[in-house]
Amino acid sequence: MRRAGRHFLQLPGPSNVPDRVLAAMHRNTIDHRGPEFQALGLRVLEGLRHLFGTEGRVFLYPSSATGAWEAALANTLSPGARVLVFERGFFAEQWGRVAARLGLDVVAVPGDWRRGVTADDLHAALATDPDRRIAAVLVVHNETSTGVTTDLAALRPVLDALAHPALLMADTVSSLAACDYRHDAWGIDVCVSGSQKALMLPPGLAFVAAGPRALAAAASATAPRSYWSWSEQTRFNDEGFFPYTPATGLLFGLDEALTLLAQEGLPAVFARHARHAAAARAAVEAWDLECFAERAHERSVAATTVLLPAGHSADALRSVILERCDMSIGGGLGRLADRVIRIGHLGDFNDVMLLGTLGGVELGLRVAGIPHRPGGAQAALALLADTAPHGVDSTALG
Ligand code: PLP
Repeated sequence: MRRAGRHFLQLPGPSNVPDRVLAAMHRNTIDHRGPEFQALGLRVLEGLRHLFGTEGRVFLYPSSATGAWEAALANTLSPGARVLVFERGFFAEQWGRVAARLGLDVVAVPGDWRRGVTADDLHAALATDPDRRIAAVLVVHNETSTGVTTDLAALRPVLDALAHPALLMADTVSSLAACDYRHDAWGIDVCVSGSQKALMLPPGLAFVAAGPRALAAAASATAPRSYWSWSEQTRFNDEGFFPYTPATGLLFGLDEALTLLAQEGLPAVFARHARHAAAARAAVEAWDLECFAERAHERSVAATTVLLPAGHSADALRSVILERCDMSIGGGLGRLADRVIRIGHLGDFNDVMLLGTLGGVELGLRVAGIPHRPGGAQAALALLADTAPHGVDSTALG
């Protein structure tokens, strides 16, 4: 049966792709060794450097972000090297599993999934490493499975204070272009990200930013690498090319997405995400439900993870929402399976899309018989009405 109206894709990524990006990708492939491609290659690599906030290198792969995890590890480490992973969510654990499969010696620090990694956590973990055997620390900036954001800027000072040589690696798959990230200023060595979230592109591109310490480590690291090899990439990237057939269509889209971000301005993009997240949290509070992220300042601007009352199935709620509203929202991953819903509010998103999303969730709560107070969508509407979007002077609207 035909369903009228648009499907709402409100996962915490992949996210909605703006029409301008779709239009930019709707063209024939060009010669990936020719001058037009060269200009495109140089432009997107420079645009990504700006987005990551780095004077270092950004490598780009036609792969999902899981490939970027592997690229980060395979380029900088040697077989058996020790890596520290904070188990604070599904994606942190997955990155650890990738490291283990690559033959690295993974030290997993168990922790509360409802909290981000703090400077104290890192300090305590490194204190157990007096002979400095840990070669890399892996931290997820925005843990998409829990909706918890870690204060990455607080971590480099800990390594410096201990004069610990470990590389600091960050995953910004669901935070890059949604909130502030400063690769160089925060002293991150390697950062992985992907196309399908706040970058407003379809899945299929992965990015790795690498600073001077990471590039130096890559020169002596001995883990086997071929497809992911930075030395191969560097040779070609310097001229705007890639050592393989690039995903030209996605690069047209990336070029346009970077233009859109520049036109809106990153501070405005971040403010937009923060405002929508605040409205989503106002809805959760009004429903008398619980945000999974325990500490208010760690709540993600990209997605809100909501804990359902005990005994109620999050997946049943998601099915109702899909059936009744034609809307996809995220479900629980790993140990949160069937316990939470994850409402995505990232990427190409505006007030009405958020209100539609929250209205759909509220309808679902009602139909599925989940105990809640009505009025969450209304609370979000009030917050949006009372806070002008960045750059809009609502007093001028009369
Ligand atoms: N890291 C984070 C924080 C993610 O949210 C995801 C996917 O959602 C990944 C890594 C893995 O990315 P991909 O599925 O593109 O391989």
